[in-house]
Amino acid sequence: MKHESNNKPRLLAMELTRRCRFNCRHCRADAGGVGRADELSMDQWTRILDSIAAYEKCVIILTGGEPLEREDIYDLIRHGRRLGLRMVMATCGYAIDDQSATALREAGIMALSFSLDGAGARTHDAFRRTPGAFDTVVKAAEAVRQVGMRFQINTTITRTNLAEVPQIAELAQRLGAYCWNPFVLVPTGRGEEIADELLEPRQYAELLADLLTLKTQSPIELRVTCGPQYARLYREAEARKPRTEGTPAAGARPAAFVAPNGCMGGRGFGFISYRGDVQTCGFLDLSAGNLVESGYDFAKVWDGSTFLNEIRDLSSYKDNCGRCAYVRVCGGCRARAYAVTGDYLGGDPICWYEPRGTP
Ligand code: SF4
Ligand code: SF4
Repeated sequence: MKHESNNKPRLLAMELTRRCRFNCRHCRADAGGVGRADELSMDQWTRILDSIAAYEKCVIILTGGEPLEREDIYDLIRHGRRLGLRMVMATCGYAIDDQSATALREAGIMALSFSLDGAGARTHDAFRRTPGAFDTVVKAAEAVRQVGMRFQINTTITRTNLAEVPQIAELAQRLGAYCWNPFVLVPTGRGEEIADELLEPRQYAELLADLLTLKTQSPIELRVTCGPQYARLYREAEARKPRTEGTPAAGARPAAFVAPNGCMGGRGFGFISYRGDVQTCGFLDLSAGNLVESGYDFAKVWDGSTFLNEIRDLSSYKDNCGRCAYVRVCGGCRARAYAVTGDYLGGDPICWYEPRGTP
């Protein structure tokens, strides 16, 4: 099946560096204090931004490692803005203070994200393997709030912090985040070492049901990330709501409301590694093509990659995902399938749903 032209990315993450002062247990990038010799230069990232902007004016997520470890970061942000790209950043927070928050806003960063993996210092610092990491994020959030920039909180959910989920959601709200992003662990990078922290299918099903309830009560946005089965549960819950003829479903959202999506990796979302490799996402460490080697031709790699077109072809999925009527809504996590079974087209190992075939 040929891929559709609506696969242009809406969000592209750029892994600017693998340097980081933290040493998180679940780090996808296996980041650390030492830089890599093959990390792309400012000039190379600039050319990559040029080729992306020529293809699609999407949102660029500057990530790492810690993107603020790059001294040239502000020039890169300004360059992206000049090209008409919307620049946001995922940061660990330790380099954020009043001065850097102001500088980021002035350079053109539109929003930031911080990670918080516990409702308090004990759990969060243990995840980050850095004493004081929790206080760092709290202070960074305050600095960002003071300069009037939006930020979201990301939380990787594992067996260790599962019980703290409601408190973390509350904390995100108290800190002033506009959105809380619970993320379901993918055991890749250093996360491989904590693969036993991956939720059981039953725990995962309960978690997603709880998040569905939390979403209706939360005064801030709640977006489940990399838990694609949430999109299926959401639609099932909407379908169960009572309807009166001629009126929208009870509790129906305003027209602008967008229902959650399943896995967007390789379609609306993409990732560019610190070496310039294009990937579906940072958790599926397989290259669709290298942007430096391709002469900085993002469109050629994104549209022409056999690997990406295979991921986009839902009819090639196997196991439970291959038989599932919800494959278009959910799609399963390709990275978890690959990490656990070695086949990125296989079934998502934490999915508890037993497909009954085509509806
Ligand atoms: S494969 Fe999809 S669901 Fe899984 S980590 Fe990547 S983007 Fe997220
Ligand atoms: S079987 Fe696959 S596509 Fe269906 S709900 Fe589970 S993970 Fe999603």
